[in-house]
Amino acid sequence: MYYDLHTHTVCSDGRLTPEALVEAAAAAGVRVLAVTDHDTVEGVAAARASAVRHAVRVVAGVEISASWEGHAVHVVGLDLRIDDDGLTEGLDRLRAIRRARGAAIADRLAGLGMPGAHGLFEQCAVIGRGHFAQWLSAGGHARSPGQAFRLFLQRGRPAYVGVEWPALAEVVAWLRKAGGCVVLAHPTRYTLSGGRLRQLIQAFVQAGGDALEVVSAGLDAGEMGRLARLAGQFGLRASVGSDFHDALPWRKTPGGLADLPAGCVAVWSGRPAMQWTEKV
Ligand code: AMP
Ligand code: MN
Ligand code: MN
Ligand code: MN
Repeated sequence: MYYDLHTHTVCSDGRLTPEALVEAAAAAGVRVLAVTDHDTVEGVAAARASAVRHAVRVVAGVEISASWEGHAVHVVGLDLRIDDDGLTEGLDRLRAIRRARGAAIADRLAGLGMPGAHGLFEQCAVIGRGHFAQWLSAGGHARSPGQAFRLFLQRGRPAYVGVEWPALAEVVAWLRKAGGCVVLAHPTRYTLSGGRLRQLIQAFVQAGGDALEVVSAGLDAGEMGRLARLAGQFGLRASVGSDFHDALPWRKTPGGLADLPAGCVAVWSGRPAMQWTEKV
């Protein structure tokens, strides 16, 4: 699969610089790479500059946290005008929410006997739970970042701080206004029943969403088939994204993604800026 339309860099909670991400994607055979950091478009320019040296097309993207009926959901925007005023303002708001939440998480951790996480703010422009997970793991408070989530950071655990992200409809509107293609990210990860997931997709369609992320790392053929059918039923296109964050599982992610199931309309169809050509 030449396309990977969901990846992260050090500009949010990924581990590679934009330059290193482009290089690794090129080595893995990716030809069209969307850089979709959480709540920032900061990495796009550096990725573009680096892509000139590789046969890779970089799509300007972002992954925005949104609220839908009490759930945090993620919306990916692709092929955006990243200097759009409304988008810029919206992302500023998101990062302010993240900083306030991050301070509250650091306070909770200090209260649990793990002081010092406030120092993370100096290193991270877009502070996320992934940074706390890495910090906890590096400090010996958890065996791995994953365990740090399970012990402290996920909903129900003692350093979990819930926040109200902007509403789903509002986030979709920002991305549309910035000319983007709007994708509901990793629909199976919201721990919703089948019926509730359909309601979420319905709300996403009504808000003006374009596509479901049908192929992503870790899904089996059955799950991808189910998402492909849902996309078809709701008249949505289909996207492909690894949600890559780390260098370690790289082998399993970009370039290693499955093809879109038969019958899907690819999110890049009709959008030349998102298509691979020999000359990029
Ligand atoms: P945030 O947007 O700051 O609330 O953090 C969400 C991010 O944390 C996701 O994009 C993942 O990168 C990561 N994440 C969420 N849950 C887990 C988990 N259980 N294990 C490892 N990483 C996780
Ligand atoms: Mn992340
Ligand atoms: Mn996500
Ligand atoms: Mn992601």
